[in-house]
Amino acid sequence: MPELRKDPIIGRWVIIANERARRPSDYIFAIEREEAPTDHRKGCPFCEGNESLTPREIFALRKKGTLPDTPGWSVRVIPSVSPFLSIKGDLDRHGKGMYDLMNGVGTHEIIIPTPRHDAGPFIKDIQQIEKLNDVLITRMHELKKDPRLKYVLIFKNHGKSAGGGNIRHQHLQLIATPATPKRVKEELVGAKCYFDYKDRCVFCDMIKQELDAKKRVFIHMDGFVALNPYCSRFPFETWILPTKHSCDFDKMTKDEIKNFSKTLQLTLGKLVRTLGDFPYNIILHTAPFRRRKKRGYWETIEDDYHWHIEIMPRLTQVAGFEWGSGFYINPTSPEDACKYLKESR
Ligand SMILES: [Zn+2]
Ligand SMILES: [Zn+2]
Ligand SMILES: [Zn+2]
Repeated sequence: MPELRKDPIIGRWVIIANERARRPSDYIFAIEREEAPTDHRKGCPFCEGNESLTPREIFALRKKGTLPDTPGWSVRVIPSVSPFLSIKGDLDRHGKGMYDLMNGVGTHEIIIPTPRHDAGPFIKDIQQIEKLNDVLITRMHELKKDPRLKYVLIFKNHGKSAGGGNIRHQHLQLIATPATPKRVKEELVGAKCYFDYKDRCVFCDMIKQELDAKKRVFIHMDGFVALNPYCSRFPFETWILPTKHSCDFDKMTKDEIKNFSKTLQLTLGKLVRTLGDFPYNIILHTAPFRRRKKRGYWETIEDDYHWHIEIMPRLTQVAGFEWGSGFYINPTSPEDACKYLKESR
């Protein structure tokens, strides 16, 4: 019998279609290496030595004494060549009859987390992941200073069917927007509702229950958990959350960044060993910038919201039913997914 499960945060329904139970071998993707794996590729704009192929860098972690837009960096941030939003101009928020609009102000940046061309399906070097997280936090602090911006969404598309395009070189994207995105707002509103009712953070409650149940948590160490949420929309959907309550990713301490980087590396390692070089989207959900007291979810955001990472393997198609209903059909239960991930060493 399929099971309908309701997400406790935003109230979304998922159908866990267990009788079609699909195993990792139904999905597995071969690890595609380039014919000759290489640290450098001619013509790749993200490779060290090819800095002249990109717009001028916004920021980079570099060896002392090296100049911007030259080799010597370990993580590099550049503007997107085809940005969705532009940093120039005012918001000019206004109405047109019943419709609201504003100028497309924002930023669209590309973060290159390694100078190496062929780092494989994910970055294995923990120090490199720590550096990447340091850079993400630095960029968030910088963008927070711009009063026009409300939110920074950081994500990575890996593999063609996840929107990763043909560029093999690892890269993430950062988009800063003048409004809080709807998906984040749904979580903020849902988390506030739960808090109003129970006086507890819904994410903290979820972590506690999942640690007790031991059915969907596959990593628990040094202040972080990796789990397959009860209402997983996709096979092997995975969340990483800090066990200590915090709404802001960019308030992590040095030690927390270390531990988070380790958890992220272990999580992606387990997923890749189970599914091969699978296509995925990974997103960071953190609290929006807060500059003044506002009503609604703003008042209690520090108590009720909890930052997290969502990893969404793109193993199934999202089609008419999902678009029309907001329901998702997941043919691999999170309990099964967790079992496979626990077994993968
Ligand atoms: Zn490259
Ligand atoms: Zn919490
Ligand atoms: Zn989320």
